[in-house]
Amino acid sequence: MSNNVGSYTVGDDIVDTKAPSGPVEDRWDKRRFGAKLVNPANRRKHRVIVVGTGLAGGSAGATLAEQGYQVIQFCYQDSPRRAHSVAAQGGINAAKNYRNDGDSIYRLFYDTVKGGDFRSRESNVYRLAQVSVEIIDQCVAQGVPFAREYGGLLDNRSFGGVQVSRTFYARGQTGQQLLLGAYQALSRQIDAGNIEMHPRTEMLDLVVVDGRARGIVARDLVTGEISTYLADAVVLATGGYGNTFYLSTNAKGSNATAIWRAHKRGAYFGNPCYTQIHPTCIPRSGEHQSKLTLMSESLRNDGRIWVPKSKGDTRSPDQIPEDERDYYLERIYPSFGNLVPRDVASRAAKNVCDEGRGVGPGGLGVYLDFADAIKRMGRDKVSEKYGNLFEMYERITAEDPYQVPMRIYPAIHYTMGGLWVDYDLQSTIPGMFVIGEANFSDHGANRLGASALMQGLADGYFVLPSTINDYLARGGLDQVAPDDPAVTTTVAEVQDRIKRLLAVDGDRTVDSFHRELGTLMWDECGMSRNAEGLKKALRRIPELREEFWQRVKVPGTGYELNQSLEKANRVADFLELAELMCLDALHREESCGGHFREESQTDDGEAKRDDENFSYVAAWEYTGVGEPPVLHKENLDFEYVHPTLRSYA
Ligand SMILES: Cc1cc2nc3c(=O)[nH]c(=O)nc-3n(C[C@H](O)[C@H](O)[C@H](O)COP(=O)(O)OP(=O)(O)OC[C@H]3O[C@@H](n4cnc5c(N)ncnc54)[C@H](O)[C@@H]3O)c2cc1C
Repeated sequence: MSNNVGSYTVGDDIVDTKAPSGPVEDRWDKRRFGAKLVNPANRRKHRVIVVGTGLAGGSAGATLAEQGYQVIQFCYQDSPRRAHSVAAQGGINAAKNYRNDGDSIYRLFYDTVKGGDFRSRESNVYRLAQVSVEIIDQCVAQGVPFAREYGGLLDNRSFGGVQVSRTFYARGQTGQQLLLGAYQALSRQIDAGNIEMHPRTEMLDLVVVDGRARGIVARDLVTGEISTYLADAVVLATGGYGNTFYLSTNAKGSNATAIWRAHKRGAYFGNPCYTQIHPTCIPRSGEHQSKLTLMSESLRNDGRIWVPKSKGDTRSPDQIPEDERDYYLERIYPSFGNLVPRDVASRAAKNVCDEGRGVGPGGLGVYLDFADAIKRMGRDKVSEKYGNLFEMYERITAEDPYQVPMRIYPAIHYTMGGLWVDYDLQSTIPGMFVIGEANFSDHGANRLGASALMQGLADGYFVLPSTINDYLARGGLDQVAPDDPAVTTTVAEVQDRIKRLLAVDGDRTVDSFHRELGTLMWDECGMSRNAEGLKKALRRIPELREEFWQRVKVPGTGYELNQSLEKANRVADFLELAELMCLDALHREESCGGHFREESQTDDGEAKRDDENFSYVAAWEYTGVGEPPVLHKENLDFEYVHPTLRSYA
């Protein structure tokens, strides 16, 4: 592309050299057998840094330490068990087929490739489906209290985009219970001296020596001290970047700093424009809101989504008779009904609101109604399944969902994009591995519900511990001296940036910049995108960035607990990443999954993919702030699940 707004250059194609060929069901075994091993006695000689203690990082740290590696682990929260994974509500998928309803590894693989709108790798997705069954056994063995049926067997429910019940859950607190399992495993290794745990410590840069990842530079968030940690490999498990949009369902602290700084050191960024908008969130209530709340997708198992048939109908829901309601998902998609995938449900909600049929303040809401479920199962049963979600809804909205339907609206929830990794989960910087939501790997252009926890734990408990050996065993990892110029330069750059942020001493708060960026991103790079809007955002973001560095006000010093400084550091990164997200969205002139380009839709308004021109992963190489990045394409081949028009009707 040659014009200035949205310009980039195209580099060589990128190939995943680690993915084995042959029958898809044998590939993971083949790779594991082909990967070099590190003998148990030699493992303790290797130090591995793991940044992050969510489900991905927590499981990876515990497993690597159990294998015998020396692990140095970090999180910015006060305790590893407060990682954002704790918020996950609905469940985790596994192809156990306990319900005997036709599920299988192949079906989970098929659903996930199709759900991702044919923009993910078959090899990765098949492995994910294979490993899913082991995750449940691992977690049950750890004592994770999954919901059980009356007879004592593990219970399952269904999530969007599938027609079987394969989601394991612990009421509406699945993430919390899984994280406690991983945290126990982690704590055991901390106690055994195999993990050196650094809570309240934030990675601010990656140390790259001779082209290999050899450590990180981190700031102690309590004292402000900047330190360097060196190792033989670095694992980033730092979560997603949904907070670029300011308002999202993510924890307020979730940020992109670790992956963005690694990107600037040479790690390619895969599909940054693929963000997921979740259909069932509590609608925004005002200008000064700082966070959005998810209502788990599991609620769509029993709740029915509807709006009034007529525009501008402001009657209360109980005054609207049955024949004047439009259960639009059940009408448009009779096979999947309320359980269509998230991207489909979100766009349908937007469409009915755009038609003027939305409910609640500003008309930006649709009903999620449990009246039928309460009639069918009784209030107690509904409460048993969803009680804590109902309570959360009532606390936030002051409305009782047992009496009146919930009001919901789509919101930013998850990022399918992330750092590009190969089949081994290794980035383009040798020695740096990326796991969990921080990588781009398995969900294509749309993640199906209950599959992020599955991927995070697959990566952390099973995949990474089997692939990192290969890298470590190949050696050539001489000790890095603390005064190596690569180390000292990185530290100096981190310190300089903090000084610069504090020196601006301007008149605008960090939050005001973040909020403006978020609004712009939601308007132009949110639920639907078009070239004009994306170009507008691409013009505004560099201006906003410049203004940030001239006017931001960061009170306090760098040598104390300073949350404004922490936020400023993160928002500075969002201001750069946002530009790449818009550029990626602009260049992908097709609709796919969560990326809906208005110029590319079918006659009935569904997303229209362009397989001929866009069946690839976009892996972006950094060339400098505001400089045109380089696009490397990884071609996607489909030998098993052949791309078709995704239909849920
Ligand atoms: C409200 C909500 C509900 C959800 N429900 C479900 C569900 O039911 N099922 C499902 O499958 N998925 C669900 N998801 C998605 C899922 O929870 C996440 O994708 C997943 O938990 C991410 O795990 P992670 O380990 O990759 O990252 P996180 O859990 O976000 O952990 C990131 C870790 O990295 C650390 N970190 C980050 N940056 C730095 C840094 N610079 N320095 C040091 N440490 C750093 C953090 O401290 C933290 O420990 C939900 C998401 C949300 C927002």
